[in-house]
Amino acid sequence: MHRFFTTEIQENTAVVRGDDVKHIAKVLRLRAGDVVQLCDGRGNECDAVIASVSSDAVTFDTQPWHAAVTEPDTKVTLFQCLPKAGKMETIIQKCVELGISAFVPVQSERCVVVLKPPYEGRIERWQRVSEEAAKQSRRGVIPQVNLPVSLGKLDFSAFDTVLVAFENEHAVSLKAALREGCGTRIAIVIGPEGGFSDAEIETLTGKGAQSVSLGTRILRTETAGMAMLAQIMYEVEP
Ligand code: SAM
Repeated sequence: MHRFFTTEIQENTAVVRGDDVKHIAKVLRLRAGDVVQLCDGRGNECDAVIASVSSDAVTFDTQPWHAAVTEPDTKVTLFQCLPKAGKMETIIQKCVELGISAFVPVQSERCVVVLKPPYEGRIERWQRVSEEAAKQSRRGVIPQVNLPVSLGKLDFSAFDTVLVAFENEHAVSLKAALREGCGTRIAIVIGPEGGFSDAEIETLTGKGAQSVSLGTRILRTETAGMAMLAQIMYEVEP
């Protein structure tokens, strides 16, 4: 069933505007009486019957709203050091499918890509990738892509656990760190193609991060975040 996000919700009606109107009317050719799923972007969803379709809005009669079953109780935020062009879209798409809650692009020493303001265009494009992946994977929320932050300015105070994936960490595995108990708000930090400098690892551990190994194989930056997230979801979801 087709799925759309809207925040324009009244008692038992809702309205979808913007690009989705054209998609509903022209691409999917849906009409009054057809049924879709609506999400409020805060983890709730409902079945909704199209009441009317106009050029700039589609109105719905909504069934009772309920919590989306696709949202994990554990909220994971990926702090991804900026990868080379084109990889961020893949990272965002796959991590949304795997249950990520938010993204923070990180500017670190060895990032080949240096993001300069204005970031809006790039962030908007990444946010659209997140929204499309959220629709496809039936998520109840659209994971937020935040503005980039330089590594030295990262603030992890909102998290119960901060795990930085470091291939030179040989004492603590991700599995062991998770078995210690990780709370419900986890930050994971992934380096760029060139990895982290020792000074950066020191900065991150100084901010409360625990460095963890993802195993003996060296993963690409675009693989490491989704692999780490999948393992965390395996550990925390029923
Ligand atoms: N220094 C790496 C090398 O020797 O090729 C390059 C970094 S790796 C391509 C990109 C990032 O993925 C790393 O900074 C780290 O965050 C993560 N990563 C990759 N393999 C890992 C592993 N086996 N254990 C922990 N983190 C890993």
